[in-house]
Amino acid sequence: MTMVIGLTGGIGSGKTTVANLFAEYGIDIIDADVIARDVVAPGSAGLNAIKQKLGSDILLTDGQLNRSKLRDAIFNDSSLKSWLDNLLHPLIREKMQAEIIASTAPYCLLVVPLMVENNLQQMTDRLLVVDVSEEVQISRTTARDGVSAEQVVKILAAQASRQQRLDVADDVICNNGDGSNLREKTAQLHQYYLALAKSNI
Ligand code: ATP
Repeated sequence: MTMVIGLTGGIGSGKTTVANLFAEYGIDIIDADVIARDVVAPGSAGLNAIKQKLGSDILLTDGQLNRSKLRDAIFNDSSLKSWLDNLLHPLIREKMQAEIIASTAPYCLLVVPLMVENNLQQMTDRLLVVDVSEEVQISRTTARDGVSAEQVVKILAAQASRQQRLDVADDVICNNGDGSNLREKTAQLHQYYLALAKSNI
């Protein structure tokens, strides 16, 4: 099976920026955010179960999940969040696993924002963490999403700490700077991962 490199980091740390650089090398990128949307796409088992639980009102007129309505429903009923996690997490893990098995690249990058929080590093052979200071996370996320610093601080508090991620990292990319180091750093790691993948055959 292809070698799996996990990629994670906190909100606004630069995971997408780093994953896009790795994508240039032609390896396979498996993105948890994309999979999380796929498992509730119209016609999916995930969306059907949600519709059964909450009624057709949870759908938009085009049949897509009404995410903002679901967010409100969760906000008003904490047990609904556990019900959804129990429904969707196994579906997401299964789809990730299927994509890993289908990969024919020398290695694949499994990009999961909440990797450490959900202990999904177990699915990887090696974990790469994009590390930045909280100040940088706040300034980049507020600039990108137009949200307040307070909102970002709340999200930071609900995520794993910087130290918790670093404790389980095998490789770390520091992204506090202007980004000019990223291409060289990803190129080095790519060569390293290719060599590792070769030696594991
Ligand atoms: P999230 O998990 O919140 O979606 P992410 O970890 O994928 O975020 P990115 O979207 O890659 O992070 O980066 C967050 C923002 O910071 C983006 O607007 C991106 O363009 C910018 N950014 C990333 N790295 C740097 C850098 N080194 N210097 C300046 N801006 C950067």
